[in-house]
Amino acid sequence: MSEPGFFEEGALVGVLTTQPLDRALDYRAPEGGCFAGAFVEVPLGPRRVLGVVWGPGRGDFDLSKIRAVSRVLDTPPMREEMRDFLRRAADYTLTPMPAMLRLATRAPGLGDPPSMRKVYRLGSAEPDRMTDARTRVLEVLRDYGGLSFTLGELAEMAGVTTSVVKGLVKQGAVREEDSPRDLPFPVLDPALPGKALTGDQEAAAEQLRGAIRTGRYGTTLLKGVTGSGKTEVYLEAVAETLKQGRQALVLLPEIALTAEFLTRVEARFGARPAEWHSGATMTERRRIWKMVGEGGAQLVVGARSALFLPFRDLGLIIVDEEHDTSYKQEDGVLYNARDMAVLRASILGAQVVLASATPSLESWANAEAGKYARIDLTARFGAAVLPDMRAVDMRAEDLLPGHWISPTLRKGMAERLERGEQSLLFINRRGYAPVTLCRACGQQIGCDHCDARMVEHRFLKRLMCHQCGETKPIPTECPACGVEGKLAPVGPGIERLAEEAAALFPEARIAALSSDMFGSARALKAEIEKIATGEADIILGTQLVAKGHNFPLLTLVGVIDADLGLQGSDLRAAERTFQLMRQVAGRAGRSERRGEALLQTYQPEHPVIHAILSGDEAGFWGAEARAREAAGVPPYGRMAGIILSGPDVAQVFDLGNWLARNDAALRRIGAQVFGPAPAPIARVRGRHRVRLLVKAAKGAPLQDALTRWIAPVRLKGELRLAVDIDPQTFY
Ligand code: ADP
Ligand code: ZN
Repeated sequence: MSEPGFFEEGALVGVLTTQPLDRALDYRAPEGGCFAGAFVEVPLGPRRVLGVVWGPGRGDFDLSKIRAVSRVLDTPPMREEMRDFLRRAADYTLTPMPAMLRLATRAPGLGDPPSMRKVYRLGSAEPDRMTDARTRVLEVLRDYGGLSFTLGELAEMAGVTTSVVKGLVKQGAVREEDSPRDLPFPVLDPALPGKALTGDQEAAAEQLRGAIRTGRYGTTLLKGVTGSGKTEVYLEAVAETLKQGRQALVLLPEIALTAEFLTRVEARFGARPAEWHSGATMTERRRIWKMVGEGGAQLVVGARSALFLPFRDLGLIIVDEEHDTSYKQEDGVLYNARDMAVLRASILGAQVVLASATPSLESWANAEAGKYARIDLTARFGAAVLPDMRAVDMRAEDLLPGHWISPTLRKGMAERLERGEQSLLFINRRGYAPVTLCRACGQQIGCDHCDARMVEHRFLKRLMCHQCGETKPIPTECPACGVEGKLAPVGPGIERLAEEAAALFPEARIAALSSDMFGSARALKAEIEKIATGEADIILGTQLVAKGHNFPLLTLVGVIDADLGLQGSDLRAAERTFQLMRQVAGRAGRSERRGEALLQTYQPEHPVIHAILSGDEAGFWGAEARAREAAGVPPYGRMAGIILSGPDVAQVFDLGNWLARNDAALRRIGAQVFGPAPAPIARVRGRHRVRLLVKAAKGAPLQDALTRWIAPVRLKGELRLAVDIDPQTFY
């Protein structure tokens, strides 16, 4: 080796691939050698696969059979810091390394040569004769100085056919050049003036700027009610990071949030950032992946997987709405993006800002313990004030069966309608009705593949399983007893509520926001923007609307069933309900008009409902923390879930029982195992699911013990085992 981390041609290197193998494979370094971290293509059987040079080879394989790396890709090597991050994230989540590498290479065509496209600029020669069309082309090019255009753009701007441009190219009056397709993103200017901050906001921004100037790791919990200016404040932290020449990443929970957000970024920095989400085109993903690595993207706004992009010099990660459950990936690789953001930043010497109106108990506890700094923004910006929150005691309301809008709520809505203001009805249930019941035999229609009930979706004219996505037509006769015309919807979904609202207010414009009612994320974004400009009087929304949208005309929020989240055995049920209700209530009265929130409940004296209404956050968190500490559950203890699944229920339980009996590795660290028990959704897509829960003390080496515990397991046939560290859902 001539320099550290460089392998001469022919040297043995270990290459980690994205294929499900349990180790890095040995290859010979290619002609010209390669660096550790180089992205390469290697032969594997008859195929060529993507990989990363992970280090020296092990040399434990027949040396004469070792093949050479096919080629080194034209992209900067994966930095040591990134390899370290992937390793430690894999250790924490007990994820195999190839799966981690797949997360870090989620862009198509990384191996392709940089694709080029033709661009057109002003040439030096004069055309032999001028026509109007030719003059217009040359004028466009002169007007826009050094800019280059694609053929289509230039022709369109000049209002000519492409053959006119091509004619000018032949004459040398226009130059045709090759330019790489993966263009850098427009430069963001942190020196542009931001909004004039209030005293509190400025103090918060200054604290974050100071943290960034240290160039070291640190996490700050930025807590403030909705509308207090958290976004304004953390954009100042982004500005400081860009001034330091480092990159910033803003993670947002829902793609629906980005429309409004991107406009704000553009207003602050003069250009749009890179946008990484599931709706981005393949070309765009590749461009972002490449530009982030080369430094051609200063700011990325994206969903949780943006955390695995190969940043050249990441200095700041914002996790907005840090309590949001969508940060925990519940299938594929099981990681919590919030925790992984902290891990990545600690390796990089970067800052993390966790922003929320209603932090998770984990972050709240970390701030209490002094591990995180904490900033509180208390006042709402401008005239906006927190809405009045009141319970509507449903026991005292006069409501017909099959109806859910109480007379009290109805009156509030009528007043808003009269004043030209908006009302929002929140219901966390998609579809028309959660249950379809046969009034002849009492049977509820279930999914053929899962232990879940089918939900009626009138909009789609089908029954749908929310577990596996299976749909079927709505039958006219009961599948169990065969009686015709007796099937009836039971309970409300957003579609049914929309029907009720329309019947109550026939003259109102009603908009329903549910993720499954829009063909694409873009269509949903467009709808949200329309609503914000006042193109609806009554908005109905599921979980989606609880997140950060700004509807200035909205002054009334009605929560149809505040009790919904209080049921169930989930340890975080109270926390979730508390957060969700406060977020939803925070939608009302974000501008000058004062808002009102009405919570329909059958148990107004429930402690969670009580805490929401009284606004006694500290009281709620304190009580919740004490309860969890007493139970030894997160964040005061550690937990892991083991999910076993397979088509044969006996086989799945046998494995579960075997694990429960052979728990010496767990007992050694004082951990307890519970189960096996059928997961509450015990069957998904025809696979039976069994769950074991492991509980350990806070400092216990849980991952190590889990690894030893499951090491002897050989998964036969279609049996699967998944480990879920820090499970969010308890089924
Ligand atoms: P949060 O992120 O806490 O919900 P935002 O940063 O979105 O709060 O602020 C709420 C609204 O108030 C936004 O429309 C924002 O532009 C505006 N706002 C907040 N602070 C200021 C300020 N100092 N000057 C002008 N507008 C502000
Ligand atoms: Zn199903």
